[in-house]
Amino acid sequence: MNAPAALSHLVPDIQQRDVPPALIEALKQRFGDRCSTALAVREQHGRDESSFEAPPPAAVIFAESTQDVADAVRLASGHDTPVIPFGVGSSLEGHLLAVQGGISIDVGRMNKVLSVNPEDLTVTVQPGVTRKQLNEEIRSTGLFFPIDPGADASLGGMAATRASGTNAVRYGTMRENVLALEVVTASGETIRTGTRARKSSAGYDLTRLFIGSEGTLGVITEVTLRLYPIPEAISAAVCSFPSIAAAVHTVIQVIQLGVPIARVELIDVNSVRMVNTYAKLGLREEPMLLMEFHGSPEGVKEQAHTVQEIATEHGGNAFEWATTPEERTRLWTARHNAYFAAIQSRPGCRAISTDTCVPISRLADCLLDSVAEADASGIPYFLVGHVGDGNFHFGYLLDPNQPQERVVAEELNTKLVARALRLGGTCTGEHGVGLHKMGFLVDEAGAGAVDMMRTIKRALDPKNIMNPGKIFSV
Ligand SMILES: Cc1cc2nc3c(=O)[nH]c(=O)nc-3n(C[C@H](O)[C@H](O)[C@H](O)COP(=O)(O)OP(=O)(O)OC[C@H]3O[C@@H](n4cnc5c(N)ncnc54)[C@H](O)[C@@H]3O)c2cc1C
Repeated sequence: MNAPAALSHLVPDIQQRDVPPALIEALKQRFGDRCSTALAVREQHGRDESSFEAPPPAAVIFAESTQDVADAVRLASGHDTPVIPFGVGSSLEGHLLAVQGGISIDVGRMNKVLSVNPEDLTVTVQPGVTRKQLNEEIRSTGLFFPIDPGADASLGGMAATRASGTNAVRYGTMRENVLALEVVTASGETIRTGTRARKSSAGYDLTRLFIGSEGTLGVITEVTLRLYPIPEAISAAVCSFPSIAAAVHTVIQVIQLGVPIARVELIDVNSVRMVNTYAKLGLREEPMLLMEFHGSPEGVKEQAHTVQEIATEHGGNAFEWATTPEERTRLWTARHNAYFAAIQSRPGCRAISTDTCVPISRLADCLLDSVAEADASGIPYFLVGHVGDGNFHFGYLLDPNQPQERVVAEELNTKLVARALRLGGTCTGEHGVGLHKMGFLVDEAGAGAVDMMRTIKRALDPKNIMNPGKIFSV
């Protein structure tokens, strides 16, 4: 796990609200030992995978049903007390920190797959089901759910952060793949948004409003998702390049030609070295693209051929192919281990991850200048990216005993975000705003749009109890 660091320089207006003893008493009465005030439990729920920390929530409720969530929210609302929904805690931007105090509602025990509809390619799950659990449970149907953040996140958390992952270039993000939700609102009422139908023109799109709302508007208690047939043929390849520029130009051309590639991930040479040490992989120490093709056997062959030609034009070499699941797992190990390998490469370090995303035609402009800046800074870093979407992450590895490193990393991130915004991109492709990117949201969306978000928040959560102090200040 990433090591925490002081938050005060980022969010100077932390204002802990008192949690009345009467509320804790009422929660204990309602939930018995499913309401915990043990320090270790509170601390575990008061942080995420970011490097920030704040005092933990006053209590943690382990919800087992929508009714549990509704009762907990209603009790908290009656005492004007903040509520922070908790999935598995893998978010990266301080999303879960109790910066205004309050209680955490852990939905991890709401982990049932409620109904699978193979004829319609849909599934309805409770929010604590994780993405890997879902794919295990539906394997026999021949269908799968493609969204795969690096962590085995909960589907409620993924909806709440509008997550994506390596497959988004072909299958989209949570935005495209959530059809309907059940939500407990800030007043403790339970509502439904959307249906199992593929499309709808019925009124405001409340499903999309809750997707990406980071727990600030309500607690998601059910999620209905789109599924996809497991492709007839899958083929994966890694290809090394003489430079990052060559790899990036290959990706741009592949996407612009409309090749329906399923995954295309960039791993820089620092990451390759780190995973070689961590997982003894023996990969060639050059920038690499990891690719996957889905379709019919002929379709996959054709896509792979086109991509190989483009890569070769850009100096790509050493294509290594894998068609069996075991070989594919071996090839993808480098990507999946990159974050953990990086953290281990500098023992005791803190990682700050960037998350910019730009239109594909601007990817090289954004990425290459940022690599030059990171190299010049002297800060150890790794770079990985869902580059087919124009999304990439620098992970700066900071020595907590060298505060100056943090300042330099934040400066690099600020320059990177400014560059991405200039190029028509976003400060966050998939991790969300949380605490860390609140300032960038104003730069990106503009004060008027953030004001409109505030208006919505005030209307749906007049007491400002749902995960307050995140995304924007109210
Ligand atoms: C190694 C690593 C790799 C990662 N790779 C990716 C990646 O490729 N793509 C990507 O998108 N993300 C990635 N992430 C980030 C993270 O996994 C995602 O943000 C994920 O969606 C968070 O899900 P969670 O269950 O951990 O949610 P949590 O961290 O528990 O919560 C995240 C936010 O959602 C809210 N929330 C949680 N559950 C609910 C609910 N039921 N109702 C309402 N609000 C809720 C919380 O209040 C919080 O604001 C990565 C993280 C790590 C550590």
